[in-house]
Amino acid sequence: MAGKKKILIVEDNSDIRKLMVFFLERMGYDVVEAATGLAAIERGRATLPDLITMDLGLPDIPGDEATARLKADPSTKHIPVIAITAYYKEAPLVESAVAAGACEVLYKPITLRSLDDALRRLLTVKPNERALLPTTAHG
Ligand code: MN
Repeated sequence: MAGKKKILIVEDNSDIRKLMVFFLERMGYDVVEAATGLAAIERGRATLPDLITMDLGLPDIPGDEATARLKADPSTKHIPVIAITAYYKEAPLVESAVAAGACEVLYKPITLRSLDDALRRLLTVKPNERALLPTTAHG
């Protein structure tokens, strides 16, 4: 498909990551993966994705810090970052991610619909460039 958008999925939970890869590939995106904050920075710089989904709870450096480092790098600062967190009570972590430059926050369990909505808003993908979506959302 011409004009495929590339998404970097940062998620340390391999089950969640595999699900996101599966659905995003079905939606017609090219997908790159990272399981840690440092890997996210390395993958971001190496592959220059169109968008990054950033889990905030990561085993090495947290997602807000990885976001800040990507936003401090001239080569990756323009890339939209969606922060994803299960810690809806930990407002400081979310505030920190937004302060670092995350433009959208999604709370786990995320639905396929909410992810698709956010991607469409941020990537302005034309309808005819997307694969057909399932009619029901999955957590
Ligand atoms: Mn996590």
